[in-house]
Amino acid sequence: MPADLTPAEAWRVLADGNARFVAGTVEHPSQGADRRAEVRDEQRPYAVLVGCSDSRVAAEIIFDRGLGDLFVVRTAGHVPDVTVLGSIEYGVALLGVPLVVVLGHRGCGAVAATRDHVRTGREPVGYVRGIVDRIRPHVADLGEAPDDEAVRRHVRATVRELVEDSVVVARAVAAGTCAVVGATYELVEGRVVPEVARGPVDLGPGDGSMGA
Ligand SMILES: [Zn+2]
Repeated sequence: MPADLTPAEAWRVLADGNARFVAGTVEHPSQGADRRAEVRDEQRPYAVLVGCSDSRVAAEIIFDRGLGDLFVVRTAGHVPDVTVLGSIEYGVALLGVPLVVVLGHRGCGAVAATRDHVRTGREPVGYVRGIVDRIRPHVADLGEAPDDEAVRRHVRATVRELVEDSVVVARAVAAGTCAVVGATYELVEGRVVPEVARGPVDLGPGDGSMGA
């Protein structure tokens, strides 16, 4: 896998991998002994994946990628706190990664817990409060809208906050060396659906879905 991809090329690699995953034609690339040796001395990932910790949204699996491909930062509800921002900036500034993908998903427990907190006023347990506090401003005014709408809203807001809060990412996007894509993942079909993009990347025609 060539390391020096453009943002658009990096997105296409992920879109193609997700299309294979959806179709059941996965290739499990870059997962063998030869790849371990190839990446022994350095990593050249071409995407930072900022995703939810949910066990059903495993980054390399759903994009059919392997070792050295993705720089992955996952928290419950993909909240961009300072250490997450630091990890993203490490990928963009020090590793030269051309693409950041914020990936939410249907059935997100962190979003559901936040909406439950908004409706009932019940306090989240322990440090879960830190997650809920980050998500709440994105979904507090949604009323009885479906959770899927809350997930999409939270993804778009996370992309906006990421570009607003990270000067490193904002400069890379402005320079055209990096793009940020927000997307949602559908648990049963396995499809990643792009929702929003900043920077030099084409999300493709039609309904925005990846692949066939
Ligand atoms: Zn989740």
